[in-house]
Amino acid sequence: MQAHHFDKRGGSLIINEEKLSRALEHARPHIGEGRVASYIPELSKADANDLGICVHTIDGQRCRFGDWERRFTIQSISKVINLAVALEHSGADAVFKRIRMEPSGAAFNSMQRISDNEDVPFNPMVNAGAITVCDLLLPLGIEKMIEISQKLCMDEDITLNEEVFESEWANSARNHSLAYLLQSKGVVRGNVEEVLRLYTQMCSLNVTAESLASLALLLANGGVHPETGRRILEEDVVKTVVTVMLTCGMYDGSGEFAVRVGLPSKSGVGGGILSVVPGEMGIGVYGPSLDEKGNSIAGQKALEFLSHHERLHILDRCADGRKTF
Ligand code: GLN
Repeated sequence: MQAHHFDKRGGSLIINEEKLSRALEHARPHIGEGRVASYIPELSKADANDLGICVHTIDGQRCRFGDWERRFTIQSISKVINLAVALEHSGADAVFKRIRMEPSGAAFNSMQRISDNEDVPFNPMVNAGAITVCDLLLPLGIEKMIEISQKLCMDEDITLNEEVFESEWANSARNHSLAYLLQSKGVVRGNVEEVLRLYTQMCSLNVTAESLASLALLLANGGVHPETGRRILEEDVVKTVVTVMLTCGMYDGSGEFAVRVGLPSKSGVGGGILSVVPGEMGIGVYGPSLDEKGNSIAGQKALEFLSHHERLHILDRCADGRKTF
């Protein structure tokens, strides 16, 4: 398949509704290959056929298509916010003393590797790592974390979805096991129930594809919001978060996703994916039908289509290399 040449406007990409609609139409037939999450009963109420996308570019373009206004829970994409805030407040040394930066190659809620011989979680994008990050965030509390999430996502309407929270809390034996195992290893040090409550509450925040695109744009622009010029996150924090997203953000699908799409991204079982196009744009996708790894099946296909046709893969420059000296 031949990639199209991409248009540029003032040095950055032009994105329009037609391009987004083509990406969604390409992705839509794949919806039936996946399933809506049901291990959190409340999530099974989602409409598997919903599909939406939103793109915010650094030069101010805003483009949306499909079910981009639908509210859904952020789930594991909150791990991006948790990590960024922990790095800002506690510093990288404190975070990475307790959590490694390696892809786990295992499911998001896997206990295997920690219970065997590893003493610390593999990375902050899997549940064990994110629960440990929440241990560091405990002094901030959920109210402050919601306020920060609203600011990072430029979305004052982000609230805690109590139904989803209660539904997950009542069905969180696996995360409880993980958290207590981490406590037994001295990795989680605060009150385990409070740590896990904060982790689960952060997973239960209501967002839209647009909230994710805003956060992705902030990351794409090194932590400075392009509209206001205000620095919201430190440059080093952004670089670390985005790198961990690239290697670990799609769980045990991270390697294949990096080849096919080539964008630092984070998925959640609510159906969202947040993707960063460094120096260019932020993308938010919503499609609650998931593959067996818990990643939005049509969301991934839409991103693959866009990445290919707009030449967004971060390593496209290698493919462009036709120079001689
Ligand atoms: N709240 C979910 C859990 O902990 C998040 C998982 C996900 O989005 N992959 O199981």
